[in-house]
Amino acid sequence: MADREEEEKAAAAAKNKKSSKKKKSVKKTVRVAHEMSADRRKEIKKALKEHDAGRRDEWDRSSGQKSHSIIRKRVKPGQMRTIMIDLLEVDMGESWPIPVTVIHGRRPGPVVTITGGIHGDELTGPSACTHLLSNAMTDPGRPLDAEHVAGTIRLIPIINLPGYRNKSRYFPDGRDLNREFPGRAKGSTTSRVAHRLWNEIIKNTDYLIDLHSAAKGRSNMPQVRADLADPPSNIIAKAFGIEVILDSKPPKGSLRRSAADSGIGVMTYEGGGADNLDHESVQVAVHGVLNILRTLHVIPGNPSRPRFRLLASGSTWLRAAEGGLLDMYVGPSSVVDSGEVVATVSDPSRPGLTVDVIAPGDGLMICTATNPHVTAGTPVGHFLPLEKHSELVKSQIDDNNMFVVSGSTDEPVWREEVEVDEISLEGEWSGGSVDAEWQRAFVGDAESGEASPLGKN
Ligand SMILES: [Zn+2]
Repeated sequence: MADREEEEKAAAAAKNKKSSKKKKSVKKTVRVAHEMSADRRKEIKKALKEHDAGRRDEWDRSSGQKSHSIIRKRVKPGQMRTIMIDLLEVDMGESWPIPVTVIHGRRPGPVVTITGGIHGDELTGPSACTHLLSNAMTDPGRPLDAEHVAGTIRLIPIINLPGYRNKSRYFPDGRDLNREFPGRAKGSTTSRVAHRLWNEIIKNTDYLIDLHSAAKGRSNMPQVRADLADPPSNIIAKAFGIEVILDSKPPKGSLRRSAADSGIGVMTYEGGGADNLDHESVQVAVHGVLNILRTLHVIPGNPSRPRFRLLASGSTWLRAAEGGLLDMYVGPSSVVDSGEVVATVSDPSRPGLTVDVIAPGDGLMICTATNPHVTAGTPVGHFLPLEKHSELVKSQIDDNNMFVVSGSTDEPVWREEVEVDEISLEGEWSGGSVDAEWQRAFVGDAESGEASPLGKN
């Protein structure tokens, strides 16, 4: 009896030692910037400390790989297969089948799900997924060749296929699918779809990358959104490998919120605008997904890293002081100086009168309006104040003062795993969420809490 107690004590001590080692390694790879607000820094540190980054048993590569099941369909190890999944499980009427491609690796590892088009008019995700599924990625010897994958990659290019066909953000019943998760089996049409997606696909993923664009009327500079105090989300947000990360809580009912609540590492990528195919944003998305897969050791190779990261916890809104026609002189990713005229508002019925929109400081435009119709108070730009970090950001601009985002140029610079300078931009999200200010002027947004045109119920 005594021996057994001794043994148990020794085992517990060994386990503690092991876990404290793990904690150290986490701290090293996920560095927290020294300038972030003290409270937030404390919260993130605490979360990372408590996080056990140990590999799960099922990822143990010595255990051999089993088949991957999705809606009772099997994908064998080393196989890539596209499965049609009905958004509604019905015998009559629309069932809206969508293609889900599963790349099931020869070796075990995490399940990573990549989703696009949850808002049917946002095309960055569908296009990026199409690139990721091209032969240049999936042929033998290519980055996503199932023979060389460890784990499972699931690509859903267009979740909201009915919305995509209608060129609409919304589901056919007028609801925003990204406000209905985890959904209800007996709820509204959109809620039923969310419920089925959640239970059949999302719930059993380890990591989720949700690809978006700005809603109609504006365009986003490539940016990542994640709750940095959630360790698995923090890890993939940084692994994506771009400079701007908005540390924000997701709105209720969003896929990101439900996933984070269930312990799934989740991030949202935003790039470009609705009804538009922004090649740079698509390219950054492709690079970002590959970077995450490399970081998680799902595919071979070294992830590329940015020279620095801007971890933002707040921003400033630039608004039109008068109504009329908006002339934008800058675009998403423009680096601007304090006092610079970023836009002019004129009114064809009041010739000779114009009003300028001025940059309130040195900063980066992370989103700008594309719709020239404005009234007094319409937000025309989402501005990230850079203050003393302006020079650093200016060291990475093109001839048009546009910030060059990592992965947006043809040939990415591959870098070894080195420390990346992290700069915290302090503040808070006006209205409680990143895009809260836009939603009052425009309908809905990737991550804002806007209700659908038909209301919530
Ligand atoms: Zn969206």
